[in-house]
Amino acid sequence: MREDMLTIGAFAKACRLSPKALRLYDELDLLKPGRVDPDTGYRYYAVAQLEQARLVAWLRRLGMPLARIRQVCALRPADAAREIRAYWARVETETAVRRDLAEFLVEELSAVSASASVSRKDTTMLELRYCAHSDRGLVRPANQDTAYAGSRLLAVADGFGPTGHPASSAAIDALRVLDTPEAPTGNVLNLLDDAVRGATDAVRDAVDGDGEDAGTTLTALLWTGSRLALVHIGDSRAYVLRGGGLFRITDDHTVVQSMIDEGRLTPEEAATHPQRMLLLKALTPTATPDLRLQDAEPGDRYLLCSDGLSRVVPDGQIRDLLTSAPTPDTAVHALTAAANEAGGPDNISCVVADVVDRTTT
Ligand code: MG
Repeated sequence: MREDMLTIGAFAKACRLSPKALRLYDELDLLKPGRVDPDTGYRYYAVAQLEQARLVAWLRRLGMPLARIRQVCALRPADAAREIRAYWARVETETAVRRDLAEFLVEELSAVSASASVSRKDTTMLELRYCAHSDRGLVRPANQDTAYAGSRLLAVADGFGPTGHPASSAAIDALRVLDTPEAPTGNVLNLLDDAVRGATDAVRDAVDGDGEDAGTTLTALLWTGSRLALVHIGDSRAYVLRGGGLFRITDDHTVVQSMIDEGRLTPEEAATHPQRMLLLKALTPTATPDLRLQDAEPGDRYLLCSDGLSRVVPDGQIRDLLTSAPTPDTAVHALTAAANEAGGPDNISCVVADVVDRTTT
């Protein structure tokens, strides 16, 4: 055997991969042995292959799938670095969604166990004052958005494709089962999940024949009496104005946002990217919406809007208009007017809701 060749056992020990893993990586073309003895079938590895094998071991420890490791290993170091950064950004995004779900479950189960004791939340009488409005804008021939506000449910849906309007209105109609006169009882997560499933079925029926060319976004808040449960998919947005600051509580499910997250695009480049309108996810049976539970505080002002507002009116102006409007109604109309003043290139939908203490108003 040549001096610079190692047996599979020695190589495995040196790179901290098992011989079994090395045989698998050989079969997958991920890490081919330097030489295979034609008589015995034994695999031999060159010392120079150790560095690549160690990289494979590290990437396995990151949890990267083997197919992606094969791609990374074929790249030059700078490109490999970019790929690893992109992979990790995706992991963090997915983990954030799962973290929200975990917090949601903890909140739900804690609320059940604390239901016997009286907390501040149970004695504070909070309710919503709200207004919803949807506007065609100045350019589009029709309005495909749907906006809704009731005492328990706030929702915006932005339909797209030839059957965009039936899609957005079907989604909201299906969710309206949640807008009962009393605060929903039972597990809010299950209630929302069932309602979203109903909305997904309704959208599928509404766009029948248009396939993936038509569909809708959905961003909705369900009021439980002290909290708001958020369900969100697509690029409509939810914000809260609290303590003078405007905070966005949704992430855009767009192709460019995922490219920004992965470090492939700057926010400045995204603003003019040709595919900036392309959705990563919409309300379909295979896509999973984000769910989040938000504690409400008296004085909170919530805004749900379609991208017809958020793409043309900067966050600073949205904050100023929300801050200065005395009521949800005036806020909604000021925001709509601002989007139209900016050219009104898309349909504009806004829902504004104030959390008020019933006992002091
Ligand atoms: Mg739109």
